[in-house]
Amino acid sequence: MNPPAVRQEARRRAGVRCEYCRFHERHLPLWPFHLEHIVAEQHGGTDDLDNLAWSCQRCNLRKGTNLSSIDPDTRTVVRVFHPRSDTWEQHFAMTSDGKIQGLTSVGRATAWLFQMNSTERVELRRLLFAQSEW
Ligand SMILES: [Zn+2]
Repeated sequence: MNPPAVRQEARRRAGVRCEYCRFHERHLPLWPFHLEHIVAEQHGGTDDLDNLAWSCQRCNLRKGTNLSSIDPDTRTVVRVFHPRSDTWEQHFAMTSDGKIQGLTSVGRATAWLFQMNSTERVELRRLLFAQSEW
């Protein structure tokens, strides 16, 4: 598969949503989404679809090359969410007030590292919920 086809397939597979924070591309029209390497190339990650995720800019920039972070509740080192081998609903829940709750160590560490609950992100989710646009 050529690079544009890989990009298109990763975007389609993700439902045009960030595979980490679940924002849809239409929610963030001024910030084009990234084709993100789950395992960064510097760690030996490949360009195969199994190692790629569709990501908003914020999540991709916060993730960087990180494969792990700290669970804020237990202060232990844990891996971050892996969109190809993990299920979002297993690690996260969306609350009615616009926050993403980490249900597991992986979910809490990822939500914290990616700043999924920054003020502007929570406010945008609340606005989208109120307008039934989520
Ligand atoms: Zn995101």
